[in-house]
Amino acid sequence: MGKEIFRKYGIPVPDGYVVESASGVKKFDKPVVIKSQILLGGRGKSGGIKFAKSQADLDSGVKELLGSKIRNLTVSKVLVEEMLDIKKEIYVSIALNRAERVPMVIASSSGGVEIESVPEDKIFKTLVDPLIGYSDYIGREATNFLKLEPAIAAQFRSILSNLYRVFEKEDCELVEINPLVITGSGKLIAADAKVVMDSDSMFRHKEINIVDTEKTPLELEAQGKGYSFVELDGNIGVIANGAGLTMATLDALTLHKGKPRNFLDLGGTDNVDTVVNAFELVMKADPKAILVNIFGGVTKCDTVANGIVAAKDRLKISKPIVVRLSGVHEDEGRAILKNDGIEAFSTMLPAIERVAQIAGGN
Ligand code: GDP
Ligand code: MG
Repeated sequence: MGKEIFRKYGIPVPDGYVVESASGVKKFDKPVVIKSQILLGGRGKSGGIKFAKSQADLDSGVKELLGSKIRNLTVSKVLVEEMLDIKKEIYVSIALNRAERVPMVIASSSGGVEIESVPEDKIFKTLVDPLIGYSDYIGREATNFLKLEPAIAAQFRSILSNLYRVFEKEDCELVEINPLVITGSGKLIAADAKVVMDSDSMFRHKEINIVDTEKTPLELEAQGKGYSFVELDGNIGVIANGAGLTMATLDALTLHKGKPRNFLDLGGTDNVDTVVNAFELVMKADPKAILVNIFGGVTKCDTVANGIVAAKDRLKISKPIVVRLSGVHEDEGRAILKNDGIEAFSTMLPAIERVAQIAGGN
């Protein structure tokens, strides 16, 4: 995906194709590199990259990598691309410098290794004023520092200015080429690509379809519905509002020997369906009991209570539900729950103790 973005912005990348099964392998016509498509760097060192000089190498390399595990991540795709004739590897990136609040260009003639392991005096760094944007003198300073010969330097400057366009237009926190390869025939090509986009900008990049391989199917479903949701390994479903209160709820549960099944932050909406949909997610995690912990503000307690009653009815929930409601319209909220036979408390600890007791006993 990174290389596709580079290609769009005129940064040279090797020809290649992605395969998800051995049957997708094309006829061998030149030496290729097979690269595991996992969200990790350092694949080379971890055995995630194979070189193939024949059809047999290619077939066996793809078979070996697909389905294998690299530092706990399963390889479900590999990129097969033309093998480059590498004369030299260099490093270039643009990163957001958070302390200075501006983009920073980083370059080094020691590429192909982690930049953290390169001595400071071998690294070129310069800040870019985002209001002025990228200027060619930055590229000239970089190529002077790297001591690139003129024909290579011209290519480097073009790549760097295009990389800055990627950084800016794609709302990136980091764009990194490591290694940027100088080939035997004197061409600069991005052999690797790392693009980290600001997740808060994703609404501007609907075309990017990131499947977060670290998320469970239920977490992905929750994300699609707009909830902050994390699965845990306990048996008490948790619905709370605000990340802080939700975290405090998990802590308090754990302190009282209760084992949370999930983190779910309802967010700041005042809507019955938001509550019902949250219950639907939590029920899919099959908890033994459910704890709802709400401090009513924008999200009013009576709305939450109506949501709980509606969820119980619509989803036919028979599992115990324990609720703590305080804040805006708390009396009305607890009255609605009592009317429906649901346990409701006005403070947090009794609710925590009660649900931990229910889930703990058999
Ligand atoms: P990473 O280990 O995840 O950063 O993966 P890279 O794509 O950067 O590859 C790691 C290393 O493998 C590079 O630094 C190169 O030394 C080597 N490598 C990658 N692609 C090629 C290639 O096309 N030809 C050759 N000869 N080596 C390559
Ligand atoms: Mg690399």
